[in-house]
Amino acid sequence: MTENQFGDTARDRLERVREAMAEACVRAGRPQDAVTLMAVTKTVEAERILPVLEAGVTCIGENRVQEYLEKKDGLPLTGVRTHLIGHLQTNKVSRIVGQVDRIDSVDSERVARAISERSRALGIVTEVLAEVNIGGEEAKSGIAPDRLEELLGQMAQMPGIRTVGLMTVPPILDTETEKRKVFSKMYQLFLDMRDKKIDNIGMYELSMGMSGDFREAILEGSTLVRVGSALFGARHYSR
Ligand SMILES: *Cc1c(COP(=O)(O)O)cnc(C)c1O
Repeated sequence: MTENQFGDTARDRLERVREAMAEACVRAGRPQDAVTLMAVTKTVEAERILPVLEAGVTCIGENRVQEYLEKKDGLPLTGVRTHLIGHLQTNKVSRIVGQVDRIDSVDSERVARAISERSRALGIVTEVLAEVNIGGEEAKSGIAPDRLEELLGQMAQMPGIRTVGLMTVPPILDTETEKRKVFSKMYQLFLDMRDKKIDNIGMYELSMGMSGDFREAILEGSTLVRVGSALFGARHYSR
């Protein structure tokens, strides 16, 4: 495939995603700028990410610390916000803090504390989201909904981090009704946490919705959708 075909395909896909997002916003009675598009670039090479950035996407998400660090210098990231969205082990924290604009996958006091300590050592403040396992799935990362408040309370005490909201990866469901139900549950939790007005905890970002369910997520209050395969095609895990 030539560079140009890459570009055309990417632009077409991006156009379709943007239209679907806009439609969902209209349906939800929400303004178009209420929802940000994050391009999830895991397993995607820099040359395929480029056309999407050129077309104006201003936010990218990567899952793995190593992959992101290898790729980032090959990308024109001026004006682009970068997020780590994959599960983070404490032993990788020191390598990623200071390298991304936000870490969206904080799901334990341990990881939060490691980010806090590393940020203090660097003299910076790291923005983070708390990740919630809304479906209560065994194999999934994320804090259990009934332990979220406790975790936020702990994070509120930590210098060097600024919590601004929540992220979730819900179970894979088939119907629009089922998808909306779980996103709605997440939105309720988000509102509950916001209403608690925990000192030092911001609650304005709700990252939910991926290629297969971003429409439903927008209908239920998502402020950030994380879209990979709908923009870049099916992933090939060669690493
Ligand atoms: C891979 C990934 C996505 C994007 O998934 P698609 O279904 O390809 O859009 C979103 N969020 C997280 C946390 C991911 O790991």
